[in-house]
Amino acid sequence: MNTIELAGVKVDNITLAEALAKLEGFLTEKSPHLIATPNPEMIVAAQEDEELFNILNNAHLRLPDGISMVVVSRILRTPLRERVTGIDFLLASVKLAAQKGWKIFLLGSAPGVAEAAAQNLITRYPSLLIAGTHHGFFKPADAPQIIAQIKKMQPDILFAGLGAGRQEKWLAAHLNELNVPVSVGVGGSFDVIAGIKQRAPGWIQALYIEWLYRLITEPQRWKRQLALPKFLYLTLIKSLL
Ligand code: UDP
Repeated sequence: MNTIELAGVKVDNITLAEALAKLEGFLTEKSPHLIATPNPEMIVAAQEDEELFNILNNAHLRLPDGISMVVVSRILRTPLRERVTGIDFLLASVKLAAQKGWKIFLLGSAPGVAEAAAQNLITRYPSLLIAGTHHGFFKPADAPQIIAQIKKMQPDILFAGLGAGRQEKWLAAHLNELNVPVSVGVGGSFDVIAGIKQRAPGWIQALYIEWLYRLITEPQRWKRQLALPKFLYLTLIKSLL
């Protein structure tokens, strides 16, 4: 595995299969590990957010969660081998967790969504052990109680879908206290697994126009999507200037 930098943010050049092997290694080490899933939006945000920048650069693993990152890496001649999205990593980890007996905890999304996602995952993998779930719309004052719940249930993997940036900061701040072997930021994955949001069909992903699909299906995200041209500017145009 090697690591490349996109606008100063480290991203691991890793395949999904290798990421799963890393996960298994982290679980045997027992000490807490943070897996981040940087996408262009996070990389752009990190330029003006030193805390996020440092968290991403110090994470134990950074999965390249964006096809534009793969395309840009190829143009810059430091090619990433494949895109590994948070949701693909979550689903593959859960399948393995069901086989290996690893316990998972789902933290994030609107009330009821993580439970519904957990139910769907159990339907898919009946032997899966769910340590617990909790929604992601809590006040900072409620964090100690949520941390106590997670600690009590002793999951092997904590998936946090609290929103890009926020989830990494929350996990980094509580990593040692939580003492969960592996914590992973997964954005809106629970919404998709619960069936509340649709992921772009495979052919749209293959055409590299998932951003267009999301712009049409979630037009309120248009402002967030300005991150994509900014990302291209920061990585490609700036390197040519
Ligand atoms: N979310 C949350 N708490 C908040 C704000 C957002 O749990 O205070 C959840 C939201 O319900 C959704 C996810 O965070 O499930 C969205 O994360 P992000 O925007 O990073 O995901 P993307 O849509 O980019 O995958």
